[in-house]
Amino acid sequence: ALSTFRSICGEDGVSLATAVREQHGKDESVHRCRPPDVVVFPRCVEEVSALAKVCHDNRLPMIPFGTGTGLEGGVGAVKGGVCFSLRKMNQILDFHQEDFDVTVEPGVTRKALNAYLRDTGLWFPVDPGADASLCGMAASSASGTNAVRYGTMRENVINLEVVLADGTIIHTAGKGRRPRKTSAGYNLTNLFVGSEGTLGIITKATLRLYGIPEATVSAVCSFPSVQAAVNSTVQILQAGVAIARIEFLDDVMINACNMFSSLSYPVTPTLFLEFHGSEQSLAEQVNTTEEITQANGGSDFQWARDAETRKRLWKARHDAWYAAQALRPGCKAYSTDVCVPISQLPQIIVETKTDLIENKLTGPIAGHVGDGNFHCLMVVDPNDPEELRRVHLFSERLARRALAMNGTCTGEHGVGLGKRALLYEEMGSMTMQVMQGIKDTLDPNNLMNPGKVLLPREPQSEK
Ligand SMILES: Cc1cc2nc3c(=O)[nH]c(=O)nc-3n(C[C@H](O)[C@H](O)[C@H](O)COP(=O)(O)OP(=O)(O)OC[C@H]3O[C@@H](n4cnc5c(N)ncnc54)[C@H](O)[C@@H]3O)c2cc1C
Repeated sequence: ALSTFRSICGEDGVSLATAVREQHGKDESVHRCRPPDVVVFPRCVEEVSALAKVCHDNRLPMIPFGTGTGLEGGVGAVKGGVCFSLRKMNQILDFHQEDFDVTVEPGVTRKALNAYLRDTGLWFPVDPGADASLCGMAASSASGTNAVRYGTMRENVINLEVVLADGTIIHTAGKGRRPRKTSAGYNLTNLFVGSEGTLGIITKATLRLYGIPEATVSAVCSFPSVQAAVNSTVQILQAGVAIARIEFLDDVMINACNMFSSLSYPVTPTLFLEFHGSEQSLAEQVNTTEEITQANGGSDFQWARDAETRKRLWKARHDAWYAAQALRPGCKAYSTDVCVPISQLPQIIVETKTDLIENKLTGPIAGHVGDGNFHCLMVVDPNDPEELRRVHLFSERLARRALAMNGTCTGEHGVGLGKRALLYEEMGSMTMQVMQGIKDTLDPNNLMNPGKVLLPREPQSEK
């Protein structure tokens, strides 16, 4: 297989080096490194397809790798095999300014796309904290701070080119198609969005773009309690304010951000807000929001009006992960990721804070609260098994609390390795049988990122 790999993507397109394999066997999560046996670097879809055929014929597991910023252990080669590192496929193709769409290869990151679009008046809003690859974001159904207004990857992918386990190339909405909407057939695009590399390798994504808003203003508001901040969020959404970003940081998180990003906000529960629109609509949105926050005991807004101050504010928010880790040098961060109907948010956050305090755990809370999605950024000593056990039990309690409120165990990070059992609890056995059936149809030999999302079957029934 190795010599065929080399004939397909060249000598420098195949690596057996330990450092390269280790770099590709791990993401940003606490899951341990599981290096693949070999890493291949295809340059085009034809090479991906040819490599997949070789893997298929030799029954070798295939693990797609975007930028490795995932938080659920998705890229670990738990059964060895071949990592498809897609960074050489980094072209931005088929930009249609007048239709608000663009097609990208899997090596293109969200920041690279927005840099490319800078002078066109358009942008792509989905923004996980890391500069992830757009196809990796599609594969993990990512979102971020802008999702409350612009949606997640699920709403913003129009079409995908995918290489299946046997090397077949398909286009989930038909080759070259990019309508704004469709009711043609099964929604294969959204089957592959969130499939975490277990159904195929995404080699192109056609994405929706948006006009850069005429005016943007950001603000920070401090609250006397978690309940007051979260109640404000719910009421702002109920009032129909088309808020672009509304991010919650608890007292521990804002303190960490203050220290890490040299800010000086009061150390109390805080909302970071952003409004997009025309000058006139902005004034209306801000007025309604201020009335609501003040009725809940919120402080006066601290404004970030110019682009530089706004950039600094949101960089601090995106750096929350690193700010949390800096609270305990030498420790690792592990992010929980539940999402509940927004009316349940105040209760789940208050209960979770109590749980953290009772169990003496460091877990600053940061959340995309406008979507009902929040994270405890657990800072844990990886060499302390007792603490790791307490964090694990805490995350399971939190996920089950979200499930009991009709929410989900993962709003945006995916299932990967760590949430497979919780997925079964969330979906129920009949739905899981349907998911397993889809997997068996598309990948009967279980070669695509095996061991992720679905729990392994009993050995006798494993094909
Ligand atoms: C500091 C920080 C902040 C973050 N904030 C957020 C956030 O706000 N919201 C959020 O959603 N996530 C967040 N994340 C998680 C991460 O950035 C996202 O999950 C991202 O979508 C992963 O993209 P990637 O290219 O790095 O994928 P990888 O980590 O390389 O892979 C993730 C999964 O997708 C599969 N995959 C990757 N590329 C492909 C492909 N081309 N075809 C098929 N499968 C593929 C992999 O096999 C793996 O299972 C954050 C991570 C960090 C480190």
